[in-house]
Amino acid sequence: MITGASSGIGRAIAVKLHSLGYDLIVCARRRERIEALKAELGDEPRIHCLSFDVRDKEKVFESIKSLPYEFQQIDLLVNNAGNAHGLDPIQRGKVEDWEAMIDINVKGLLYVTKAILPGMVERKDGMIINIGSIAGKEVYPMGNVYSASKFAVDALNQGMRLDLHAEGIRVSSINPGLVETEFSQVRFKGDKEKAEKVYKGYKPLDPEDVAEILEFMVTRPKHVNLADILVLPTDQASSTIVNKKTE
Ligand code: NAP
Repeated sequence: MITGASSGIGRAIAVKLHSLGYDLIVCARRRERIEALKAELGDEPRIHCLSFDVRDKEKVFESIKSLPYEFQQIDLLVNNAGNAHGLDPIQRGKVEDWEAMIDINVKGLLYVTKAILPGMVERKDGMIINIGSIAGKEVYPMGNVYSASKFAVDALNQGMRLDLHAEGIRVSSINPGLVETEFSQVRFKGDKEKAEKVYKGYKPLDPEDVAEILEFMVTRPKHVNLADILVLPTDQASSTIVNKKTE
């Protein structure tokens, strides 16, 4: 099961896992996108589309509860749905943006995880991969609340591992630096020019680079857990230091 499979990293992960033979539950709000992905990949292995907003607690639980029988056993959960909303100094930050980031990146991840966990605990088997960010490892100017939400993901990744390792459940995270996706378009509320600038003058990661790392993680034997991965483009040294050739 992959949240945020309609775009970017989540979509690339869905394509990769499908190629590895996984049956998939692909989730996002934009149903037409996930239906199109299903049509593109074909239904062997099987794909089930679930459309919900991760902020909608009731809908999250209801959607997962109502999965058809053959999709009820979830072996791998990729908590990927999330975004940054806005890039403002804290004194000019918008409360709606703060709420969106906390509600989606943190609370949404918790709702989905809570809905999936009983089955994993019962089987004493399963794997959860949380998509964090370098922003969850170091804060950058104007990253304030987005960073706070990803620091929370980092804490939850550690906390879940502490609580679940004895249940036979692997918990791990991939924390990417700059990846070229729709992320910046969302952050800048559809301003394409601003968004494109983020990825200019250097080589960012592609979503497929992240999907390949996840492939390596999920194909390790059960006693191996790649607990916490930070992956950056070679041109990026930290949250703030990027070797940009043009401005
Ligand atoms: P993206 O292309 O904008 O994809 C975001 C995905 O999350 C979409 O599929 C979107 O689907 C889903 N999503 C957003 N809000 C949602 C909500 N309320 N309910 C359900 N689904 C929701 O961005 P991306 O770069 O692939 O981001 C994926 C993850 O990687 C995020 O957690 C992000 O924080 C993390 N990340 C990204 C970068 C980067 O540079 N791109 C770096 C580090 C970490 P719908 O809009 O269809 O619902």
